[in-house]
Amino acid sequence: MKIIDGKKIAESFREQLKEKIKNFPKKIGLAVVIVGQDPASKIYVRNKVKACESVGICSFVYELSETITQEELENCLVKLANDKAVDGILLQLPLPKGFDAESAMSKIPCEKDVDGFSAYDLGHLVLNKSKFVACTPLGVMKMLEYENVDLTGKHAVVLGRSDTVGKPMALLLLNANATVTVCHSKTKNLKEICKTADVLVSAIGKANFVTNDMVKDGAIVIDVGMNRDEQGKLCGDVDFYGVSEKASLITPVPGGVGPMTITMLLYNTVKAAELSL
Ligand code: NAP
Repeated sequence: MKIIDGKKIAESFREQLKEKIKNFPKKIGLAVVIVGQDPASKIYVRNKVKACESVGICSFVYELSETITQEELENCLVKLANDKAVDGILLQLPLPKGFDAESAMSKIPCEKDVDGFSAYDLGHLVLNKSKFVACTPLGVMKMLEYENVDLTGKHAVVLGRSDTVGKPMALLLLNANATVTVCHSKTKNLKEICKTADVLVSAIGKANFVTNDMVKDGAIVIDVGMNRDEQGKLCGDVDFYGVSEKASLITPVPGGVGPMTITMLLYNTVKAAELSL
């Protein structure tokens, strides 16, 4: 069994990005828009700003009060869409109650949508012609590539079908020639399906859901989940110690997919800047 070291892989990506950014003909900018005071969202934004600083991307944070109107939020996004110093725009989700996230996101032009969450991006992923892929599933693919995993003909099982993780993950695996099964809360015989997986990606948000008896010997297990256990400690969807006995490759939580997600945001921002030249 080998542990996939997400921190190390993310670091190697950041080193490559730093080089690119250093030699880039202009400053690269990411605008992050946050509405309201949600503490978790504020931490995410702070981490994104820090990550930008670590590679030399300029970040512009717009902290908007939750008393602003939908129109004011959208005007802010339109202004950023027209700002040449801004290569990527990220609207921190979820928005406070009463805001229409879909309408707000539609104001982010596809060439600056570095989160890759839009219908345009998802549609292009279906066609295998995507510009920006959602950061978490993209990070998983980069990890598998880094570990030289050939997905051709492999049975990949994705647990979870959210628009931001499960669905794009399944499409990426399909585009990489895996045979893909997507499971969700209504799936029957989930355990039996998981047991047939050569590659098992769990993104459901349930601590220790994937246990040793659900995994085939030699399977590759990717844990996207970010949960709190009974002691309040960060953990994934996978019972890491039990499943490690069977997996050939496995990601830990923390230190697996998480560091890749934020690094892929930087990757997409640099890509947006490159495409804008
Ligand atoms: P989400 O929108 O809540 O989607 C969860 C998915 O899991 C849904 O499709 C749901 O099925 C399915 N599901 C829930 N319980 C299930 C069960 N018992 N059996 C089978 N499927 C079940 O969550 P998300 O945004 O995709 O995130 C998933 C997890 O990844 C969370 O823990 C989140 O914190 C984590 N995450 C981590 C990163 C990272 O950087 N590491 C980034 C994003 C998300 P239905 O569709 O039928 O309801």
